[in-house]
Amino acid sequence: MGRLVMKFGGTSVGDVERIRNVARHVEREVKAGNHVAVVVSAMSGTTNQLVEWCRQVAPVHDAREYDAVVATGEQITAGLLAIALQEIGIPARSWAGWQIPIETDGVHGSARMTNINGGEIVKRMEQGQVAVITGFQGLGPDKRITTLGRGGSDTSAVAVAAALSAACDIYTDVDGVYTSDPRIVTAAHKLDRISYEEMLEQASLGAKVLQTRSVELAMVYKVPLQVRSSFEPPDSPNQNKPDGTGPGTIVCQEDSSMEQHVVSGVAYSRDEAKISLRKVKDKPGVSAAIFGPLAEADISVDMIVQNVSADGASTDLTFTLPRKDLRKAIEVLGKVKEQIGFNDSTHSADVAKVSIVGIGMRSHSGVAALMFKTLAEKGINIQAITTSEIKISVLIDEAYTELAVRALHTAYGLDKA
Ligand code: ADP
Ligand code: ASP
Ligand code: MG
Repeated sequence: MGRLVMKFGGTSVGDVERIRNVARHVEREVKAGNHVAVVVSAMSGTTNQLVEWCRQVAPVHDAREYDAVVATGEQITAGLLAIALQEIGIPARSWAGWQIPIETDGVHGSARMTNINGGEIVKRMEQGQVAVITGFQGLGPDKRITTLGRGGSDTSAVAVAAALSAACDIYTDVDGVYTSDPRIVTAAHKLDRISYEEMLEQASLGAKVLQTRSVELAMVYKVPLQVRSSFEPPDSPNQNKPDGTGPGTIVCQEDSSMEQHVVSGVAYSRDEAKISLRKVKDKPGVSAAIFGPLAEADISVDMIVQNVSADGASTDLTFTLPRKDLRKAIEVLGKVKEQIGFNDSTHSADVAKVSIVGIGMRSHSGVAALMFKTLAEKGINIQAITTSEIKISVLIDEAYTELAVRALHTAYGLDKA
């Protein structure tokens, strides 16, 4: 008998009717003979509201209390789903992360799970009871509730699946992973399968369909992972494909067939900002003086462009960082300005990062050239570039994000027929 973790995101549990619909998906899997645990998100919009309330009470607030507030959204859903399951005759019990416990480190607001004690859950699963577990949260070393960062329920689900040696199905408002965000690229098509590596890049480059850390965990613990729709009727014949490919997208180890496509997806992130420092002294130790204090302030810098020094004495340096950290970064740089010795600085939050991803890039040439040509033909200026073995990212003016994503989607032959 198989063990299965089913995760339902915010839109899938957005109101009572949808929670009833979720209960019927769970019923189908239980009746098919699976031992099931469910991981739920807060109802859509709830976490945003809770975050906003914290901000209204105090723009800068205690991270422990932020966690105490924002973790409540998932508790509502877990209880409601347990009731909905009981209503249709499926034995069920809700569990908050701290009750299991799902142990985490002490980084409130963006904690990482360190251990899950799955014993009690397994025992009850084997007795036929469905555990409905709150996503997004755990218990810190200080014995207080922690949360895992926005979108963290995906990661909770994969971690629970790893702890229970179960497969993991992520139910969401789209029927799988697409070649690009279907909300902005209508020509995007669903992938039957995608490799862990490509999914990891897609997620970290902005495709919000899975939280990046969930893909990392699935890859490390070899959790069979599928992204599928909660809106497909629970009793639809599409739910179980006879060839075993699944109705959604399977995220799995790469195989040779996946390399046939040079590019498997186009991702974008509007969550970017850039800072340019002018006339920075061109001498050893300056980069360390800039990026050391930023790292200490927990600001992760992404793209870095340093101009060739014209006079051998000073140079210009541009880098990108998460938009939410822009203000903090400006403060940090202000404090070390003397030491770095730059003339002045400019910053902008009107930038976006657009990326192409594909394992086929390893064995094909000319991939970058096509990207640059496509953007040039649309009159889009590239402000910075980064590459890795299986992705190329460019920084552009935010206003051109959708134009760039759609043009690249077409250029790499990804538009559906
Ligand atoms: P949930 O609330 O279920 O966790 P999310 O909103 O976090 O759902 O993620 C699903 C959304 O991710 C989709 O509605 C879609 O707009 C977006 N998305 C971005 N890129 C992709 C992609 N490549 N494939 C599928 N969905 C994507
Ligand atoms: N409810 C949390 C959020 O909105 C976690 C999640 O949905 O994955 O970020
Ligand atoms: Mg999500």
